[in-house]
Amino acid sequence: MKCGDVYLHICDHLDEDINSERCRQIRQHLAGCPHCTEYLKSLKQTITLYRALPPPRIPAGTHRELFKTISTLTTKAAAGTPKRGRKTRKA
Ligand SMILES: [Zn+2]
Repeated sequence: MKCGDVYLHICDHLDEDINSERCRQIRQHLAGCPHCTEYLKSLKQTITLYRALPPPRIPAGTHRELFKTISTLTTKAAAGTPKRGRKTRKA
């Protein structure tokens, strides 16, 4: 197993049965790779911090605006760059 494989599967590793073949391979790699060990450590720290935080509260209005903005942006991105000089709104 290479570092790239560890990065790919490390998230599963956190939830997966620790005795599975893949987890054993990951553990084996981690034992000899300080880079991946460090990576896993920071990943676990991030998850711990994230879980310690209360769930975010977004006001309903902000939530709607956010989704409107996202859908507008994705629609624009899907339609491509608009042509220059073309007015879409009346002044
Ligand atoms: Zn590694």
